[in-house]
Amino acid sequence: MKQISLLGATGSIGTQTIDVVMAHPDQFNIAALAFGRNVQKGIEIIRQVQPKLVAVADETVKTAIEQVIPSSIEVLTGMEGLIAVSTYPDTSLVLNAILGSRGLLPTLEAIKTGKTIALANKETLVTAGHLVMDLAKRHGVDILPVDSEHAAIFQCLKNEPKKAVNRLIITASGGSFRDRTKSELVDVTVEEALKHPNWSMGAKITIDSATMMNKGLEVIEARWLFDVPYDQIDVVIHRESIVHSMVEFIDYSVIAELGLPDMRGPIQHALSYPERLEFHPPKRLNLWEIGALHFEAWDEERYGCLKLAYEAGRASGTMPTVLNAANEVAVDAFLKGKLAFLEIEEVVKAALDHHQVIQMPDLETIQSVDRETRDWTLAFINKMSV
Ligand code: NDP
Ligand code: MG
Repeated sequence: MKQISLLGATGSIGTQTIDVVMAHPDQFNIAALAFGRNVQKGIEIIRQVQPKLVAVADETVKTAIEQVIPSSIEVLTGMEGLIAVSTYPDTSLVLNAILGSRGLLPTLEAIKTGKTIALANKETLVTAGHLVMDLAKRHGVDILPVDSEHAAIFQCLKNEPKKAVNRLIITASGGSFRDRTKSELVDVTVEEALKHPNWSMGAKITIDSATMMNKGLEVIEARWLFDVPYDQIDVVIHRESIVHSMVEFIDYSVIAELGLPDMRGPIQHALSYPERLEFHPPKRLNLWEIGALHFEAWDEERYGCLKLAYEAGRASGTMPTVLNAANEVAVDAFLKGKLAFLEIEEVVKAALDHHQVIQMPDLETIQSVDRETRDWTLAFINKMSV
């Protein structure tokens, strides 16, 4: 029985993780979980999962849930709560599906206690990939990808030495606006941007998919997870999201991992690794029913956020931290109606241009750059709307 700490229990990945756990009650149990402010969903999940420890965003949420859940369940708040869940002594694996760079500290602390990390929270690796991977290496901890592209690459790489790899090829659906030109995006609405053609996900990652910043974050995530330089990481638009990603080897043989878009596959893979468990998706993949799969090169002008991510990744040091923090603030402003869709790219570019890169940053530097970038970006957005 694997005991699990789940961060982001009320979210899209969190609830699908609970589905996987409930489908294998003899294999998995969630002993500690964290969520933010969704009180109703949180209570429903606590009743279903019966964890021993819960962490929530703040005291108001804590008071609201403590009125209805058994008093035997301990409830903590804020960063302290997230870390208590991620380091909970009874668990051996942390599934981190929290949103944004607040996932960094709970991940680092969990690594120090020797727990396996199943990572959906890509912002953690973008913000401080070198710190996470170094610490994991020192503690002999596995970082298992939950992101479908990286779970695919992880499976393609199995048993292959690193020197056998020519390049990683990450597929991208192209997001909600893939059939529109850039000039057609001037006044798109939040509702339109939230309609992803293939995946049902949280709001932030759905917007990131529409700008293709999500793919940029995934390129940086891949650089750290697989220790492959940016020149050996390509992105290809693949509208069906059937080929989850590919690896080209030095003999030019290409191995791909395929499946219908369903995050419960990669979640279960990370939870059960190194074993494989049965999974019964609602439909199985029959390529003859799909008929054709399409692949297109991506355009740097059309998908400026992906270009910025490659540039920030190559600049290294604190640049990816700035990319991520500015993007989190910009996407939040877009979702609140304070920024136009195309201005997300503009804001992130301005934040990167403003920043003086610091190489090999320690945790303190990362945290202060993350904070400063958030403040700077908010002020920049406020000035734009005057
Ligand atoms: P959601 O927005 O659906 O869920 C985010 C989760 O984080 C919620 O449980 C939310 O709680 C919690 N949270 C937010 N703020 C806080 C806080 N201050 N304290 C504690 N918990 C908080 O996001 P997704 O599930 O879509 O994505 C989660 C992560 O997984 C992201 O990093 C994303 O990039 C990554 N990912 C997602 C995929 C997907 O298919 N959805 C695919 C690949 C990666 P609450 O709602 O209760 O406030
Ligand atoms: Mg992905």
